[in-house]
Amino acid sequence: MKTELHTDWTVGDIAAGFVFDPNEGRGLFGMDGRLVIQPEYQRNYLYGDGKRDVAVVDSLLKGYPLGLMYFVRTPDGRFEVLDGQQRITSFARFVSGSNPFAVDVDGRPRYMDSLDPDMRARLLATPLTVYVCSGTPQEIQAWFRTVNIVGVPLNAQELRNAAYAGPFTSAARAVLSNPSSALAQRWGTYVAGSVKRQAVLQAALEWVSGGDPDGYMAAHRSDPDAQGLIGGFEAIIGWAGATVPQTDAPLVRGLDWGDLYRRYHTRPYSPAEVGATVARLVADPQVTDRHGIVPYVLGGCTDTRLLHVRVFDAKTRQTVYAQQTARAREEGVSNCPLCALGSGPNRTRVWTLAEMDADHVTAWSRGGATDPSNCQMLCRTHNRAKGNR
Ligand SMILES: [Zn+2]
Repeated sequence: MKTELHTDWTVGDIAAGFVFDPNEGRGLFGMDGRLVIQPEYQRNYLYGDGKRDVAVVDSLLKGYPLGLMYFVRTPDGRFEVLDGQQRITSFARFVSGSNPFAVDVDGRPRYMDSLDPDMRARLLATPLTVYVCSGTPQEIQAWFRTVNIVGVPLNAQELRNAAYAGPFTSAARAVLSNPSSALAQRWGTYVAGSVKRQAVLQAALEWVSGGDPDGYMAAHRSDPDAQGLIGGFEAIIGWAGATVPQTDAPLVRGLDWGDLYRRYHTRPYSPAEVGATVARLVADPQVTDRHGIVPYVLGGCTDTRLLHVRVFDAKTRQTVYAQQTARAREEGVSNCPLCALGSGPNRTRVWTLAEMDADHVTAWSRGGATDPSNCQMLCRTHNRAKGNR
């Protein structure tokens, strides 16, 4: 990976051949077409408000530095702006007259061609400070993370889009990063986060790749389209919708549907039964983790850890411990009822409270309640052994 510091490019160099697209409201190219000002992974132009855009030109006219900018060298030898697009678009609009605005000089609104010639020349000759990075996608991503782009913090997927820029990424983004897509609402049922901030694209990559979005993007970088990714993502969401009738956010949004699909999509389910079981667990006050309900049901209702079933409180544990221990001392046996049944050295051992765990006599899954009448204290070993049954 290579980074070069450029201090020789001026406002005039960068603004050369600048084009502003009024339909999309963004700056497109600079440096006579060699600079892509707003690559697709970038945020929209936000400075066009008559304040921040004016402030950029005002700063330049006063000789204030605009701060560091970051470009990436693309495989075809051009540059893309990683950080600096808001500032560049602002001064380039003014300098090039493409979608220009006026700035106040000596109490009068001025456009580029009404500045006095000295001032205009000084503005065009203002040098900028630009870091240019080139390297492998991995190197560029690592570098992006390190510089922690001021003002435009890119998230993990935005960084990946930058590092793996190309036809595949563009095609995937055109569908999966488009908030006005007709499918966006359906995605939002299953994916948490913002479409614009690449949450859907990221979920699609993670689910379809089995948790390796970087590897997937690297392998498909030069693909002419993203049909495999989009089709795989749609298959997972289609399966989720056909299998689990519930669509409420806490039950289905943000689950790892890629993992659930991989593990369970070949199993037969009755959606009516799944729906009824999920509804019953939602209504069960002992189930404290709603997010675990759907994975628990799809997995065949075996892994109760997913549900975080209510546990006995400290007062119940202490009361039951005291009763059990008093009785055990009278009988001269261990206060763990399972140890007391055995013949080993622990048959008469009296455990401390800290050495014991509370156990549901009748398991929660068989209808046992979480109240003192269904609580017994077991030594750690026996409780673990019982839990694993
Ligand atoms: Zn025991």
